[in-house]
Amino acid sequence: MNIILLGAPGAGKGTQAEKICEYLNIPTISTGNIIRAALKSGTEMGLKAKSFMDAGKLVPDDVVIGIIKERLAENDCQNGFILDGFPRTIPQAEALDAMGVQIDKVIDIEVPDENIVARMSGRRVCEKCGASYHLEYKKPSKDGVCDLCTGALVQRKDDHPDTVLSRLKVYHEETEPLKDYYQKQGKLAIVEGQEEIADTTALVLKELEV
Ligand code: ADP
Ligand code: ZN
Repeated sequence: MNIILLGAPGAGKGTQAEKICEYLNIPTISTGNIIRAALKSGTEMGLKAKSFMDAGKLVPDDVVIGIIKERLAENDCQNGFILDGFPRTIPQAEALDAMGVQIDKVIDIEVPDENIVARMSGRRVCEKCGASYHLEYKKPSKDGVCDLCTGALVQRKDDHPDTVLSRLKVYHEETEPLKDYYQKQGKLAIVEGQEEIADTTALVLKELEV
């Protein structure tokens, strides 16, 4: 199954992607994680993306479309995949269609703006492997330490409150129109983000009929 996860930054797309992955055993492709990894290893693409990312803006379409093209060509995507954070603009969605990629379902996780800012301030990521946590909703077993690799948990620069507001604005202007785009293709399912992660997962899995 080929799945797209839509939703505002901090709506919990990454967390739900992990859960779907456990059920369906298909890889998650997160453009945000790929860009952050490129940044860390100092590639040209990473450096080009940095200023956009730090400002809470979108990285240019051609850059992310290139990333996705390469990633989807890898073997592990043959039996399906979960796109987390792509597409984020209409041109990105059109590029995906133009590549001939068949999408089965688009799950939009809805969380009100008021809750987003609060959620984002509690978000922490592992410095080493990129795994994501939350001070309240998704605590690591040991404070400040990654369960997976014992790396240190830090706040992403673009998760600071001032940047979060620009990311939300970008989301409403550029990404939200994708709901309409996929609604017209008959692929959209809307899930209300719940207080408990497991409750949201139950709704997501119901939509996926797995
Ligand atoms: P979140 O889901 O919390 O918003 P991501 O890790 O998906 O965070 O993305 C972080 C940043 O990476 C975005 O704010 C943007 O700068 C860049 N980025 C990720 N995916 C895309 C995309 N599809 N198009 C443009 N920029 C992207
Ligand atoms: Zn880690």
